[in-house]
Amino acid sequence: MSETVLTAIASPLTNLSEDEILFRDNVRQFAEEKLRPLVKEMDEKGIFDKGLVQDFFQLGLMGIEIPEQFGGSSGKFFEAILAVEELSRVDASAGVIVDVHNTLVNNAFLRWASAEQKKQFLPRMAADTCGAYALSEAGSGSDAFALQTKAELKDNDYVLNGRKLWITNGKEAGLFVLFATIDASAGYKGITAFIVEKNFPGFTVGKKEDKLGIRASSTCELILEDCKVPRGNVLGEVGKGYKIAIETLNEGRIGIGAQMLGVARGAWEYACKYAQERKQFGKPISEFQGIQFQIAQMGTEIEAARLMVYNAARLKDAGIPFVKEAAMAKLFASQVAERVTSLAIEIYGGYGFTKDYPVEKYWRDAKIGKIYEGTSNMQLATIAKLVLGK
Ligand SMILES: Cc1cc2nc3c(=O)[nH]c(=O)nc-3n(C[C@H](O)[C@H](O)[C@H](O)COP(=O)(O)OP(=O)(O)OC[C@H]3O[C@@H](n4cnc5c(N)ncnc54)[C@H](O)[C@@H]3O)c2cc1C
Repeated sequence: MSETVLTAIASPLTNLSEDEILFRDNVRQFAEEKLRPLVKEMDEKGIFDKGLVQDFFQLGLMGIEIPEQFGGSSGKFFEAILAVEELSRVDASAGVIVDVHNTLVNNAFLRWASAEQKKQFLPRMAADTCGAYALSEAGSGSDAFALQTKAELKDNDYVLNGRKLWITNGKEAGLFVLFATIDASAGYKGITAFIVEKNFPGFTVGKKEDKLGIRASSTCELILEDCKVPRGNVLGEVGKGYKIAIETLNEGRIGIGAQMLGVARGAWEYACKYAQERKQFGKPISEFQGIQFQIAQMGTEIEAARLMVYNAARLKDAGIPFVKEAAMAKLFASQVAERVTSLAIEIYGGYGFTKDYPVEKYWRDAKIGKIYEGTSNMQLATIAKLVLGK
């Protein structure tokens, strides 16, 4: 097995540079001051506050890796991970909006857009236009390349017909990286990525799902009825969309790991505080060893998840293979999030089971980590393939 050898002494993974600390602290402060007061109502209504999305743009959270020449911050992937973690510590819906925009949509443009497409779209994506990533359909989830949405070239336009399901940011997005096939009989080799704008004729955002968790994040159906997409809006090469999908998702799932890390941290912090306040048998419950051990176990698992998520992100930034580590980080962080948030409810006792206290939401929000951007079984399949060399 080949190993990349560092020329300098490796620094601890959780050590952040001055710039990273500054960036993280800014996001944390914003999340505490602006986001936290709105979380409960957004969850109840199932609607994300529009002003917050504008704030994300103003804070530079929507163009983290976009080069400065296009209005972005020329930052690293790792910063996107820090942003998703910090936002998700307060609200996982906020985390996923920023995550999908940066780690899937911007990422796809940065890697595969032509110079002209970059000039046309990146300034908008850094300034005011939210992105969505549309791969899944009703009949194709884990088997994503069985998608049925068709694209047919007519004169200078592709005409798209079909339906997409489960599309995060469906309500907020102005721009969609959307996958369709130019030839269903060619299997994955027909799949092509298109840049679709919300106002294109024949494009409609359909039903918004009413969900268990991340309720404020919009998850929508997309309907394409003779939707005309200019030929120049093919992202990357015709028939190479499968490569874009695989490679963006390989990176994007580190972001879901970060989201789950943030969710686990948020619930754990509440549990630690509550355990020191709640008294039973004449003393704070944190003085019982049973509670202390639960809190210690939760903290240990969070630390392990953080190391895995940060390592995968830093490997990616360093240009070192990271696919196995990314799948492991997402798999493990989503398991940790589910366990930690569930224990947090137990530490709150009956109060934790009610909507008057914040921890039940963290538990509901944790569940999605095992499902989207590849279910846990699909992560295991990727890890097994890489471990066994199949
Ligand atoms: C809230 C939410 C947001 C989403 N956002 C987006 C988005 O922005 N863009 C997008 O394109 N998609 C999105 N999705 C779709 C998501 O990626 C899919 O739901 C996911 O990939 C699983 O697909 P499925 O739901 O069709 O489940 P299936 O693929 O039908 O899986 C059902 C079960 O079978 C298992 N399974 C399937 N195949 C295998 C196998 N080969 N081996 C072992 N087990 C297997 C799975 O692990 C799972 O347990 C979102 C979904 C949700 C719920």
